[in-house]
Amino acid sequence: MKTLKIAIQKSGRLNEKSVELLKNCGLNFENYKSSLISPVSNFPLEILFLRDDDIPEYVQDGIADLGIVGENVIEETEVDVSYLQRLGFGKCSLKIAVPNNNSIQEISQLNGCSIATTYPVILGKYLKEQGIEADIRTISGSVEISPGLGLSDAICDLVSTGGTLKSNGLKPFADVMSSEAVLIGRKGSENEDLIIELIQRIQSVLRAKETKYVVLNVLRENLAAITALLPGVKSPSVVPLAEADWVAVHTVIPERDFWDRISQLKQAGAQGIVVMPIEKIIL
Ligand code: ATP
Ligand code: MG
Repeated sequence: MKTLKIAIQKSGRLNEKSVELLKNCGLNFENYKSSLISPVSNFPLEILFLRDDDIPEYVQDGIADLGIVGENVIEETEVDVSYLQRLGFGKCSLKIAVPNNNSIQEISQLNGCSIATTYPVILGKYLKEQGIEADIRTISGSVEISPGLGLSDAICDLVSTGGTLKSNGLKPFADVMSSEAVLIGRKGSENEDLIIELIQRIQSVLRAKETKYVVLNVLRENLAAITALLPGVKSPSVVPLAEADWVAVHTVIPERDFWDRISQLKQAGAQGIVVMPIEKIIL
């Protein structure tokens, strides 16, 4: 059987989460910092550790079957790959930012400005869509210091918390794209069965991350009010307790609206609520 190859970032913002995701899929491998390839001992898979910029092309050209990389890098390299799964980490947005003292109000005021970025392709497309003619200055890093050095009027860079912009006296002005880490694959790839198996494992880990396992006790007379608050899952399990009037309810709650849901459950009479993380959900 052919061995699959998956390319992930060697070091940087996506490395740790990518490794964690694959380990949570039950894959055994050494996270060698010094080597480029790490074999997985319990699945026909090899992990390639690469610079993130190289991942889309490696996948497009079939050197790797799969890759984990930010959408921003895929867009910038303009490769032709399949998006297989959004992964929910590495979230950020590509924004145009200007110095705090700049009174710019409208996007049209960027006409004639110079904008420093490491994302000239994405920025170029965006400006064209907006009908703006600006001078794109492509630089390879430390974009945020360029207005301060007089190299550009504005920048276009990735932002997650906005802390880096702030500490460089910049304010976000326009959203160019939002991005997260995604699993990509080569168009028309062979090894379909193995790829599907791996995607299913990844999805079961992601589903589990989005949900919590909750056990609570409730008086039998309040059970209907509690179950009415638990939509979206198959009926919860209801287990009788030693005290005849009471039952325990076992259910799964989405992380998203977790605290709202818990306070509603308390109001409806839930007691002794125990919340547990879920490792995998296989449908
Ligand atoms: P490499 O050495 O692999 O080329 P890099 O320096 O280009 O790494 P990182 O800074 O590690 O890249 O970021 C990797 C990805 O993390 C980005 O392409 C983006 O998708 C995502 N990301 C999330 N938040 C941020 C952020 N605040 N700044 C930059 N990238 C972010
Ligand atoms: Mg890079």
